[in-house]
This record gives sequence, structure tokens and C-alpha cells, in this order.
Amino acid sequence: MRPKSRPAHRAFGAAILAVGLIALAVALGTAGHQAQSQPVAATVDGAEAPAAAGAAGSSAGEETGAMTTQPAPGKYRELTPEEERVIVHKGTEGPFTGKYTDFFGEGVYTCRRCGAMLYRSQDKFHSDCGWPAFDDELPGAVRRLPDADGVRTEIECTNCGAHLGHVFTGEGLTAKDTRHCVNSISLQFIPAAEVRYGRAIFAGGCFWGVEYWMQKQPGVLKTTVGYTGGTTDNPTYEQIHSRDTGHAEAVEVLFDPVRVSFEQLAKLFFEIHDPTQLNRQGPDVGTPYRSAVFTTDEEQRQVAEKLIAELKGRGLNVVTQVVPAGRFWPAEAYHQSYYADKGAEPPCHVRQKLW
Ligand SMILES: [Zn+2]
Repeated sequence: MRPKSRPAHRAFGAAILAVGLIALAVALGTAGHQAQSQPVAATVDGAEAPAAAGAAGSSAGEETGAMTTQPAPGKYRELTPEEERVIVHKGTEGPFTGKYTDFFGEGVYTCRRCGAMLYRSQDKFHSDCGWPAFDDELPGAVRRLPDADGVRTEIECTNCGAHLGHVFTGEGLTAKDTRHCVNSISLQFIPAAEVRYGRAIFAGGCFWGVEYWMQKQPGVLKTTVGYTGGTTDNPTYEQIHSRDTGHAEAVEVLFDPVRVSFEQLAKLFFEIHDPTQLNRQGPDVGTPYRSAVFTTDEEQRQVAEKLIAELKGRGLNVVTQVVPAGRFWPAEAYHQSYYADKGAEPPCHVRQKLW
């Protein structure tokens, strides 16, 4: 049942948790990620993108006014009366009147009110219905509920409940056979070069188990298991477990900072592994299974140190390392989303509430 290179003793794992809030101008690709010395731009689809401002193109550039600034987490934008009519009172803007109906710049569409990331430009399509249409949403970003008309399915921002529009299926318009019909006025487009994903990297034993829990956290948009903290370039799973590469099994987490904070993710990290075990998690023994937070900025370092101090204050002898993030090397494809794809829960990582 295990991939051929997986050691049989591997029931527990050491995963690395490192989180970082970064101004992302480009893409966190599926090849190695530059993490430390320069701002890393990341996208949730792993596409490499030019880092330069203005890369989103001229039409998107028209959107790069003051309004593209995302509100701080927990803050709402002040709404105009027309925005309030649609977003709060579930109104509908006139067909073919919204500014994003025929707009196809590269970037992310956020909630007009709270700034949560909702849709990617890659999922937008021409529907000729008169409103912006998307055939997919970012993970967990959009909530569905029965419309008051008893027929349609309303969609709203999961984070703040802002009315977005309706979702339809069975129309056969795209391969995903889904159409989110969204009022432009409920959205705020952010050009690709200005999208700010949060990024964190954690190691806490077997990366399968750590990834499983991170994927369940609302606000997490993408996870990647891989190797970091060592010196070997392009490491393989067999290399990190057969010789001293210095790498740990780790999980890179891209998240929407409006919906989840680094601190929330770091608390989750401490709850899903045993931070008092040195260079092991249960039966998984060795430095690749060490507990570590690979921080991407000073704020993350402070948060991680604060939480460790809290746990030590409760008598826990925490051995988790807090180190600046270096390059992150994605692991082999068969390690990605292991438990989610298998439809199973990890025996190695069980959540124990600490906060
Ligand atoms: Zn919202």
C-alpha cells in the first residue's frame, strides 16, 4: 500500500512547518522555490510569472488604482449604496453593465467587501450571460446556499457572507460544467503582480500527515510537500532518507491572509505533531523528521517564538527549530496530497487542541 520507497516503519512523520506572509509578485512554481533573500511571488496554480509590476497587462493596469488595495484582515471596505444593495441586500446588477463582464486580465478576484480571494482569472470564461462567469472557485472561498426563490443556488463569500450571485450546473459550458454567475460589483480584481498570498513552511514528521491537516484548514489555498533546510539541490526522497542531505520533510502552505493568519496555522502545526520529540515523530526517526518552522519573515519568527514560549510555559519541552526558510524543493508527485487522494486519515498525525 505504500509507495515503494517509503520505509515500512513510517507511521509517524516529522513535518516541517514554516509559514510566511510574503508580498508575492511572481509564482511559487513546482520547481524549487526561492524563499529567503527575495520576495517570492506565488500563485496557487504554480505557474511561473514575471515578477515585474505591470505584468498583468494594460487592461489589468487600469484596475491598479487605489481600489486594488486589499483591506486588512478583519476589516471591511466601506460600501457605496449600490454595492450595499447587491452585496448586503442580495440585489443584482444589470446584465452587461458590470466592469468585469468582458474583462480578462490575469490575477485574482477578491471579495469587494472583505478582500478574501475568491476566483482566479484562469477560471473565468465568456458565457454571454451578461455577468462575469467562473467555472471554479478558490478552495473553500465560496459558500452555496438555497436561494430564497426556492430554485436557484445562491453563492456568497465564505469569509464575510457578501452576496456574490448564483451558481449553475448542467449547462455544459465548460469541462467543469459549472457557472458561477457573479456580480462585478461584488468583486475586486487584483492584478497578478499585486496579489499577496501568505506562505508558510512547516516540518513536523511525515509530510503526508502534516499536509493532510493543513489542507483542512479554511483559508489554505494550496499545499506542497517537499524538502528544505538542507544543502543538496534537487533532493529525492531516497536521498534524504539514505544520507545526510540536511533536508527535512516539509509542507509549503499558500494561504489567504484575509481568511487565516500565520499564527493560526502555526498553532495548528503545534497541535498536529509532538514538538517535544527531537529528530523524530513516533516511529519515524532521523533529522528528516525533525520539528521545524521555516520562517519567511521576521514577523513569522516572532510569532513562532512566542508560541513556543507559551508551550514551554506550560511545561512542554518544545524542541522545534525556528529557522529562516531557504529553498523549498517539491517532493515527487506520488507524495503530494497523499491522504486526500487516498481518502484516508493519517495515523501519524492526530490533532490535539492546545489553544
Ligand atoms: Zn467577503
